[in-house]
Amino acid sequence: MAGTSPGWLLQLIRSGDGWTRRQLLAETGLSRMTLFERLDALFRAGLVYEAGPAGPTGGRPAALIRFADRGRVVLVLDLDHHTGRVAVTDLTGHSLRERELPLDIAGPPDAVLAAVCDAGAALLAAGADETLVGVGVALPGPVSPATGLLRPATVMPGWDGFPIAAFVGARWPVPVLLENDARAHALGEAAERPGTTPLLAVKYAHGIGAGLVMDGALLRGFDGAAGDIGHIRVSDDADAPVCRCGRTGCLAAFASGYALLRRRGVTPSSSDDLAARLASSPELTAAARRLGRTLAGLVALVNPQTIVLGGTLGRLPVVVDEVAAAVRADALDRLTSDLEIVPSTAHHPAAVGMAALVTGHVYAPGAVDALVP
Ligand SMILES: [Zn+2]
Repeated sequence: MAGTSPGWLLQLIRSGDGWTRRQLLAETGLSRMTLFERLDALFRAGLVYEAGPAGPTGGRPAALIRFADRGRVVLVLDLDHHTGRVAVTDLTGHSLRERELPLDIAGPPDAVLAAVCDAGAALLAAGADETLVGVGVALPGPVSPATGLLRPATVMPGWDGFPIAAFVGARWPVPVLLENDARAHALGEAAERPGTTPLLAVKYAHGIGAGLVMDGALLRGFDGAAGDIGHIRVSDDADAPVCRCGRTGCLAAFASGYALLRRRGVTPSSSDDLAARLASSPELTAAARRLGRTLAGLVALVNPQTIVLGGTLGRLPVVVDEVAAAVRADALDRLTSDLEIVPSTAHHPAAVGMAALVTGHVYAPGAVDALVP
C-alpha cells in the first residue's frame, strides 16, 4: 500500500544517514507492529542493516537502521562522439574504477557497445564482494522518457531501432537505463550543488547539449529531446554553414567542437584534444559568444539560479567568460544579477547522474515492494 509499504519505508530510510526505531515511528506515524513488520521484511531482503549506536542519549544506546548500500555498484557506460568513459560507481555515483576508450559513435552500434561492455566487464571483474544493481548508458542523442529508447539521433545514424538496453542486458541481468548524455551530466551537476534550482547545465565538446534540473527533477520533454539546443538555428544568412542534421545555420554548425575542427580541415577523431587544439583560438571565442546568446533565450524562459558549463570546451575559462558576457548582455538584469555562470568542476558528472537514475529506478518503492513479500 502506498505510504506504508516496505518500499516506501526504504525510501525514507535512504533519505537519511541512519534512523533509530523511535525516529522511524515518529516520522512514519505507523503503529509499532506495522513498522517492525515492514523493517523485518527489509532486513530479510538485505536492504537495510543495523549499524552502531546513535550516540549517548542516556540509558542503552539505540541502534541505527541504515540502507544497505555497501558493496552495491552501478556500471556507467558514457558514450560521447569519440570517447567512451566506463565507470564502476557506488550508488551515489562516486567512481570506484574507470577507464576511457576510443570509439566512433557513428560506427556499428553492436561493435561500439561490445567494446564498452568488454571494458565494463573488466572493471567489474577487478572488484571484490560487489553486487551490480544496474547499468546506466549515456548517449549523445534523444532518449524517450516514455519508452526509455533512443530516438533518431543526428550523430548516431546507424543506431535507429537498435535494441541498446537488450544488448547490454544480455551481458548483465540487471536493469539497464538509457539517458541523453547532456541530461545525465545536468543531473550529476545538480547532485554536486544541492539546493541550486533551477540548474541549467551545458555539455560543450564535440557537440552541444543542455539539461535542466528543477527541484531535483530532470526535464526530459514530451519526446525526449529537451536540451537539444545545438540545432537551434542562429543564422539565416545565405552562406551560413551546413549542419550535420542537414539544415543550415544551426548553433552546432557554427560552434560545436566538431564544426570548429572541420572548418580547419581536421576530421574529428578520438585522439582529439579539443581543449588543446582550440583553447586560445579566436574561433572558440566567437563560438562561445554564439552559445551565450542562445543561452540568454533559455535564461529568459527558465530563470535559472546557476548555469554550469561542462565538457572539454565548456569548462575553459575563455568559454565561461564569453558565455557569461553574452548572457548578461542579452538577458534582462533582473534575470542575470543573481545568476551564477560557472565551469563544471565535477570529475564525471554524467556518471553521478546515471547512478542516480539507476538507483532511483532499482530502489523505487514499487520495485522494492515487488521484491519484498
Ligand atoms: Zn543542426
